[in-house]
Amino acid sequence: MKPRVAVFSFTGCEGCSLAILECENELLGVLNLVDIVRWREAMSETTEDIDIALVDGSISTHAGVKRIKKIREMSKLVIAIGACAHTGGLNAMKNKYGMGEVKEVVYGPDGAEFDTIPARPVSAVVPVEFALPGCPIDREEFLRAIKELCMGKMPKLPNYPVCVECKRKENVCVFFKGQFCMGPVIRAGCGAICPSFGEGCEGCRGFIDNPNKNAHQEVLAEFGLTAQEVMNHFSMFNSYKESEV
Ligand code: SF4
Ligand code: SF4
Ligand code: SF4
Repeated sequence: MKPRVAVFSFTGCEGCSLAILECENELLGVLNLVDIVRWREAMSETTEDIDIALVDGSISTHAGVKRIKKIREMSKLVIAIGACAHTGGLNAMKNKYGMGEVKEVVYGPDGAEFDTIPARPVSAVVPVEFALPGCPIDREEFLRAIKELCMGKMPKLPNYPVCVECKRKENVCVFFKGQFCMGPVIRAGCGAICPSFGEGCEGCRGFIDNPNKNAHQEVLAEFGLTAQEVMNHFSMFNSYKESEV
């Protein structure tokens, strides 16, 4: 029997679940491996009998906490997809302000009515078997991961920094142009796409394991930086993580 897969969205732009829909050429192949049984963006049926739950978005409401706990109960595997679900993503930037202030700025005087709590990655609320990084997820990485999950294998991510892919592409380092880049401490796998287009990496794939040890030391040395300085520099995608390192 094929694994029963469901897709759920929480706080985010739903770009990661859309990225699955955009795997147009490969989607039929995926459907040979799995049965999609629940997906608000693509179908109206619902079920609570789920083997693999793919979850995008961060958990940032009381209702979201309740819902993700229910999804955990009805699913054999919970896979976080995308930066919001993996690290808390952009949404966690609000965590450094009081929730009263956040609600007032966003919703005005009626803000108190809204259900908003500090944004958390899915793994901060329920156990997660695997997280696929990126904003949005990389389609090829997703397809590889879903095939491995169907074969009963846990997918593996690169544990080396974006700089390695960037160097392989022979890009000019953006530090030479006076820009900043998180590449020395961020997990590779995106093909260093941002530096390849002349922009610094903003860290959407999250930190590599043990950045102080595994950072691209050659680049850090060249620009007189430490891994910690790079990690402190940007909080766009890693505010939640930063509060823990
Ligand atoms: S990770 Fe990025 S693309 Fe995915 S849901 Fe969050 S904001 Fe959207
Ligand atoms: S710091 Fe950024 S631009 Fe420089 S080599 Fe590393 S990934 Fe490339
Ligand atoms: S280069 Fe950095 S910001 Fe750009 S996709 Fe890769 S990890 Fe994300």
